[in-house]
Amino acid sequence: MPVDVARIRSDIEAIALCTQTPGAGATRPTFSDSWGASIRYIRDQAVKAGAVVRSDAAGNLHARARSLAPDQSVWLCGSHLDTVPHGGNYDGVVGVVVALELLRNGLALELVVFAEEEGTTFSMGMLGSRAWTGQLGAAQLCALRNDAGQSYLEAGAKYGVEPAKMADDRLRPPAYRGMIEVHIEQGPRMWNRGEPLAVVSAIAGRRQYLVRIRGTANHAGTTSMHDRRDALAGAAEIMVALERIAVGETVLTVGRLINHPNAVNVIPDSVEFTVDFRAASDAALTRGDTEIRRVIEEICHRRKLALEIQLTESMAACPMDAQLCDQLSRLGKLPVTHSGALHDSAVFAGHIPTVMLFVRSRDGISHHPDEFSRVEDIAAAADLVGQMIRRPTLSRLNSMTREEFVGVCGPFFEHSPWIADRAWLQRPFASAGDLYEKLCAVVEAATPEEKLKLIRAHPDLVGRMARENRLSRESASEQAAAGLTSLSADEIAVFERHNAEYTQRFGFPFVVCARQNRKQAILDAFPRRLAHSREEEIASALAEIFKIARLRLADAIGE
Ligand SMILES: [Zn+2]
Repeated sequence: MPVDVARIRSDIEAIALCTQTPGAGATRPTFSDSWGASIRYIRDQAVKAGAVVRSDAAGNLHARARSLAPDQSVWLCGSHLDTVPHGGNYDGVVGVVVALELLRNGLALELVVFAEEEGTTFSMGMLGSRAWTGQLGAAQLCALRNDAGQSYLEAGAKYGVEPAKMADDRLRPPAYRGMIEVHIEQGPRMWNRGEPLAVVSAIAGRRQYLVRIRGTANHAGTTSMHDRRDALAGAAEIMVALERIAVGETVLTVGRLINHPNAVNVIPDSVEFTVDFRAASDAALTRGDTEIRRVIEEICHRRKLALEIQLTESMAACPMDAQLCDQLSRLGKLPVTHSGALHDSAVFAGHIPTVMLFVRSRDGISHHPDEFSRVEDIAAAADLVGQMIRRPTLSRLNSMTREEFVGVCGPFFEHSPWIADRAWLQRPFASAGDLYEKLCAVVEAATPEEKLKLIRAHPDLVGRMARENRLSRESASEQAAAGLTSLSADEIAVFERHNAEYTQRFGFPFVVCARQNRKQAILDAFPRRLAHSREEEIASALAEIFKIARLRLADAIGE
């Protein structure tokens, strides 16, 4: 059953109806009736799709395909349904309806709806995911109250929150292959670049500072410009200079400023302001920290202002699982981005392999009734997550028929399915590495003619097959990744000359693992390898073929 765009649209519309503010955006505080209605909708649809549904003791909803054995390790896939007041119909919802649609498609996954992600109901975010992973306990949840004065435990009781069971009913990492959260970007970058989907490599960390600057208050009329120690003018210069520190993907905001005495005819003697600095890596956060301090100190020193900088919050950047990011971006040929906003995935990254997939937001608008993402983009995200989840595990591979097995492992060696066909006889494979070694052993044991045939089955880099779109799916994406699909006419001519010279000398095409090399490295390799003997080059070509196969194997098998 393919992903159904109309069905996803109707899910989004149905959840949009669950709001305290009809006509004025989605307002679904956690554990409110409107939130409960949205949970009920997902629960009913999941049951209809044949899933087994339960709430965990922290109040998160889980729906697991009925066909799964109780101990079968599966993908966790979902997001949240709670909103900020007058929020949009896509934040969180998108990740939940994608998981629901995949459940309907019979995929081996567990849908999850996390309680209280936004942090607007109980004044702290990601409560459901933090409680389920054991980062928050019942005592802490008891202290958090909503506007009606109810604690998280009281308000959540009718949605399955059970403090007595919380310590036992927790995430068991071995039960999951990983976590995939689809979410809207909530910023304009992807929309402006025309990128429907992007893989999130990291969730930004942040540092926040409180800066206090002291000068001297004095008469605005009698103090010459030269004699002033104006704290506000100093702060203004600092703010402009700090703005320049935020380069690349980092962002910096001075969001609050208190000026004293804040009088029309008095030179300000004291200013206090905040700095919020965010970056996708801890290295960038550290660099930013040094720069922020240097800029502030330099300006205050020059203006003879006293200074105090206090670090008020330090949150590390949270990288997503590098291998999953890589696999997902290659599978969907997607760009990689990072998230400036926090998500439940940040909580999971420390427990199970976690990856996020962003869907573009129209004009970057979010937390607003005008929030919008194209349902076609959402369906494409579902489709991609489906492909990712469908990748066979090793145990599934071990129980495949010969034909199925060759279908999965055949493409590891270009147009040479006989290798997988022979390796099948040696199953079961103990690990992906074991499978790889046994595939390579088949090649090693092959006749010299078979080895040559294997090398000759490889397409020329930037050759005619590439230009005529006749490459295998694997080869096409590998050549694209090495930057070989955007060459100038001159560069193409250089490749053609090298290819021709090489093939003439050795009688087979030049083989290189494009994914491990960039364009220039490949060009540099030609003259070096042309100097080899034919035997040496056969060995080099086979070594490159093994590297290619190893990467393809890692992509195709979801261990
Ligand atoms: Zn969200």
